[in-house]
Amino acid sequence: MTVLLDERKEIIKFSLKMVSSGLTTGSGGNLSIFNRSKGLIAITPSGIEYSDLTPKDIILLDLQGNICPVEDTDHNGLPPDAVSSAHCSGHAQTLTNEENPAVPDCFIGCHANLKPSSEWGFHLALYRHRADINAVVHTHSPYATTFACLNREIPPVHYLVAFAGKKVPVAPYATFGTSALADNILATINDYNAILLANHGLVAVGITLPDAFNTAEETEFVARVCFQAESLGRPVLLPDDEMDRVIDKFKHYGSGRK
Ligand SMILES: [Zn+2]
Repeated sequence: MTVLLDERKEIIKFSLKMVSSGLTTGSGGNLSIFNRSKGLIAITPSGIEYSDLTPKDIILLDLQGNICPVEDTDHNGLPPDAVSSAHCSGHAQTLTNEENPAVPDCFIGCHANLKPSSEWGFHLALYRHRADINAVVHTHSPYATTFACLNREIPPVHYLVAFAGKKVPVAPYATFGTSALADNILATINDYNAILLANHGLVAVGITLPDAFNTAEETEFVARVCFQAESLGRPVLLPDDEMDRVIDKFKHYGSGRK
């Protein structure tokens, strides 16, 4: 019996899509899914090419940052639901946000000594902060990151910015992989579904991984349109009340392209 196998397969599918759609290169960026009923987060590992990923490479964490096994048959036959509490309390190491976790010996063979993405801390912080989300996508997509490097929010230059909210705000800069970066993200995100990370990239969240991924893609599209429009002149921004209408229509009719 394997734990969160469907989620781990979905993460690999969208990791590959993140590369093919141009949202990232190599092993940049990271994705996660939170299965709230099991209390476990599936997240991409650190420093491995997406094209090389297999389901056993996807790391499982609980909300406290304990690494959990992806197979339960080698761990006293515990059922998946019991793995997090029973196994992790006995063997797993609680990660701190400022250090690389050492992988316990009992996980060799499960994760082949892989470590979770260096940004695992803000993924967990977002799941604790936003009860409405179950997926996080982090990319360094070029146009969104261009705005992030200017420390400039993306304005409502196109109605599809509504995937993120009325605009895409910018969280202040902090070193990657630190609790300071997680704090800055939590202080900025409110009920937005995407924000920029100053001098770094983009974070998108959603109810599902396809939702979060779609928001990351649409945010990159709007960033590109804004960049191009500003290269030709001064874009006309949508007024606040129109953005209210668009966001309302997204809620009632779904958020597909119209
Ligand atoms: Zn990053």
